[in-house]
Amino acid sequence: RRIQVSLGERSYPIVIGSGLLDGIAELCGEAGFPVRSSLLVVSDNSVAPLYLDGLTAKLEEGGYKVVTHIIPAGEASKSLTVYEEVMTTAIKAGLDRHSAVLALGGGVVGDLAGFVAATYMRGIGFLQIPTTILAHDSSVGGKVAVNHPLAKNMIGAFYQPKMVVYDLDTLATLPPRDVRSGLAEVIKHGLILDREFAYWCREHAAELLSLQPEALGYALERGCAIKADVVGEDEREHGLRAILNLGHTIGHAIEAVGGYGTFLHGEAISIGMAGSALVAAKLGRPQSLYEETVSMLTALELPVTLPAQYSVDDIIEAMMHDKKFKEGRITFIVPDEIGAVSIVEGVEESVIREVVGQLKKEGS
Ligand code: NAD
Ligand code: ZN
Repeated sequence: RRIQVSLGERSYPIVIGSGLLDGIAELCGEAGFPVRSSLLVVSDNSVAPLYLDGLTAKLEEGGYKVVTHIIPAGEASKSLTVYEEVMTTAIKAGLDRHSAVLALGGGVVGDLAGFVAATYMRGIGFLQIPTTILAHDSSVGGKVAVNHPLAKNMIGAFYQPKMVVYDLDTLATLPPRDVRSGLAEVIKHGLILDREFAYWCREHAAELLSLQPEALGYALERGCAIKADVVGEDEREHGLRAILNLGHTIGHAIEAVGGYGTFLHGEAISIGMAGSALVAAKLGRPQSLYEETVSMLTALELPVTLPAQYSVDDIIEAMMHDKKFKEGRITFIVPDEIGAVSIVEGVEESVIREVVGQLKKEGS
């Protein structure tokens, strides 16, 4: 199955299915990478032992030269230090303008490898091979970045891949906690734009959590399609694309305060999405919206409260570094109902402060 991301000359397909990695060399050809060119495959030390040898063999059979770089698994690898190490590998291997970077892994590998592809010689070819549920989101849309210790995703670029190859077979080995984390971005796509899909996710939560192929395939196709539509309308986040940040303002702050990796990305934004429904209630939306949102998140076994040890001040402080915070007010994605959100400018810091406090209390 294919979904097109429509961005003029930067358009590309998301290819979703089973057994796709067997045909990866052909897909690289279709993506425009010349045979005999060098491909730098970036992966992490959990994914590489499972899929890297197979992938390398197929690429070499197809006539490509393969260079690999394996990073430690986890959010901490989305750093300038690791970025430099990958660059060193690229330079030592003599990658040139005809070369391409392939990201084999989850959002961490994709964001980091994408930033390498965007900046090596001012940009070389890039292909995403997502291996997590969460990466149905991160591999589509061209946001690539590394973190700064003070702020997540602060150093980055918009850089679209030439293709996304989503082989659903790779998901079978995903740890349960990462399954849940990924489902947070899946339900997010329903919560922002597709009421029916959000309810469908709640109804099929058990199948999704147990990686039942039919349900999972449908959910990921639907999630990718929603993401592709939004990005096609607003590639550089001048407006509409901001709705994809539902739950992320609070979520990113939780990630930064807890230390990257304490809460997984999807867990943090799940708490953030519960928080955004509380903000909605303060701005006059029905309280039932919060309860409904929480029921969907908890059906997917996601957290919706903040542990007591998190300080409200720390969370607000971390939010100040957010790209959307200006003079004590912030642009915030506020749900209107299940399946619809508004971009509200100038939400007062005091409202967010109260909500973060409430997220803690709900937990105690
Ligand atoms: P991840 O890349 O760290 O993967 C999660 C864990 O699963 C890792 O330990 C990894 O080694 C392991 N893993 C991955 N695939 C596996 C497989 N098939 N089998 C077994 N283990 C596997 O994290 P993630 O949840 O995929 O992505 C989170 C990152 O994505 C965050 O940094 C977040 O900021 C970013 N993100 C980016 C965007 C974007 O638009 N660029 C969107 C959403 C999230
Ligand atoms: Zn996200």
